Amino acid sequence: MPELPSVSDFLKEKGMARLNTIRETNQGVAEGLMFNIQRYSIQDGPGIRTTISLKGCPLKCKWCSNPESQNPYPEIMVRKARCNGCGKCLDVCACGAITLNEDTVQIDRSRCDLCMKCADVCPTETIESTGKYMSLKEAMEEVGKDELFYRNSGGGVTLSGGEPLYQPEFTLNLLKECKERALSTALDISGYASWRVLDRVLKYTDLVLFDIKHLEPAIHRKGTGRGNQLILENLKKIVDAGQRRVWLRIPIIPNYNDSEQYIEKLAEAVTKMPVEKISLLSYHEWGKPKYESLGRDYLFSDSAPPGQERLQALKDIMQSKGLHNVTIDY
Ligand code: SF4
Ligand code: SF4
Repeated sequence: MPELPSVSDFLKEKGMARLNTIRETNQGVAEGLMFNIQRYSIQDGPGIRTTISLKGCPLKCKWCSNPESQNPYPEIMVRKARCNGCGKCLDVCACGAITLNEDTVQIDRSRCDLCMKCADVCPTETIESTGKYMSLKEAMEEVGKDELFYRNSGGGVTLSGGEPLYQPEFTLNLLKECKERALSTALDISGYASWRVLDRVLKYTDLVLFDIKHLEPAIHRKGTGRGNQLILENLKKIVDAGQRRVWLRIPIIPNYNDSEQYIEKLAEAVTKMPVEKISLLSYHEWGKPKYESLGRDYLFSDSAPPGQERLQALKDIMQSKGLHNVTIDY
């Protein structure tokens, strides 16, 4: 598997090499690029946790509820309904990327160099930046705020994304620091990374949360932009490694992986794997408005989330195959 591209290679590939405000996060160790830090999280592993979500992902799942997590650089999000037409953003934009039409802001993203000056001056938070660089020390200060809760609840720290392995050095160092403080660690991954990277971070990881989007390579590629061979190989290597705790996460996506036949096949494929838990994660549309604010199309607009009854039916199928560690999560 080729290494994940560096941020500068990624930008060149996208024809965005003109951007000069982007820092290299892929190879650097000093800083990581986050798009969210969630305290008191109870979904990303046992107990009360802090989930640190790193920006950048090699997959581009069409149903992604956090589209701001995908690109490995800061971006602007624009919520036009908040705009009061004051024009402060126009005054600071040296690229001529902003216009005001009928008292709401329009941004020509092909001209924008992501300087973030408009976000800094906007009084209504119509324009906001997503993606914040943090040093290891700053990230550990955030983690340290809830140390007592982790210890009392059996919780800890979860690194998520995006794909945390897209920033391998920062992820490795953050996990190491957590272990030096005797904090429990979880790694929430797509599995799309070289084994060399994964093997290094697993030494400092207590629990792996591992997504399976689809078992069929062509369908996987259609939904995520990448094949699944590497992902499935990595999953096998992780479970073969022995004592490691693994939770499988199965996003249930309408008309993609939610047929009875597919769920039966999936159950048969994982039935011999020594995984601690299998979560069926319901597709939802909560991230839909974010696509518009990022200037992107939402490609799953016709797909309604599966109801509780449907999820239960899929869970029953897995249980009928001998899997008694299946939960439904939202
Ligand atoms: S981030 Fe804002 S101010 Fe900077 S170039 Fe883009 S639109 Fe203009
Ligand atoms: S600064 Fe904010 S509120 Fe003012 S025009 Fe620009 S986007 Fe609208």
